[in-house]
Amino acid sequence: MGEGPLLEVRDVSKTFGGVHAVAGVSFALRPGDVQAVIGPNGAGKSTLFNLLTGQLACDGGRILFRGERIDGAPPHQIWRKGISRTFQVPAVFQSLTVRENVQAALLSRRGMSGRLVAKTAGLFEADAAAVLAQVGLLGYADDGCGTLSLGDMKRMELALALASEPALLLLDEPTAGMSSEERAELMETVVRIVRERNLTVLFTEHDMDVVFGTATRILVLHHGRALAEGTPAEVRGNPEVQQVYLGGAL
Ligand code: ADP
Ligand code: MG
Repeated sequence: MGEGPLLEVRDVSKTFGGVHAVAGVSFALRPGDVQAVIGPNGAGKSTLFNLLTGQLACDGGRILFRGERIDGAPPHQIWRKGISRTFQVPAVFQSLTVRENVQAALLSRRGMSGRLVAKTAGLFEADAAAVLAQVGLLGYADDGCGTLSLGDMKRMELALALASEPALLLLDEPTAGMSSEERAELMETVVRIVRERNLTVLFTEHDMDVVFGTATRILVLHHGRALAEGTPAEVRGNPEVQQVYLGGAL
């Protein structure tokens, strides 16, 4: 297709005190990639995500989105350019219904205050329904968010991220706390939505069956460094990766 990378991470670093949480990581995402970031706890996965969204500032290196530098930009600016992450549970308005929460996210993407939502029942209803149908929550549209199960709350977070109409979706442990069956199902939903909406995804996941069954590319972090990056087959065959995962898990 001759398209350039959507995201380029060049030699990016972040240190906390003496801890090199992210130590000179480079990789690129092409449009349509579904890339997993794997690595043991403390490997630097969440720190990397926080650098990409502007929640943390890089100590060194560059991040380019569509060829334009975004490192140093504040989170709302990066979000406006088209990078969304799953919202954490407190970002959901417990007092609103599932549908109203998605409407609030759509309002905010389109430059209107989410606080207006109570007065704007009916606004973006079709768009909200489309997002809810995609994540499999349309049947719960009129339920209060406080009543959702953990698995449905995870789908809700996905719906809110999608409502902000991103080009790049960042999912940090989107299946945390789920059974392996629910994990596989949620990630299948993600992949289907990625194809339908022409998205690019970077996600973390601990279940290696889900990772290898879902990702088109895999980045392996270890002590903040990129140990390997490539197709699932390339990563699986990498001796250093095998060592980190004790030879058995992959
Ligand atoms: P992962 O998500 O792969 O489990 P993290 O990015 O959360 O790893 O953490 C990487 C390293 O950075 C760990 O050693 C962690 O203790 C440290 N770290 C992460 N965030 C902070 C912080 N805000 N302050 C101090 N140390 C941190
Ligand atoms: Mg983490």
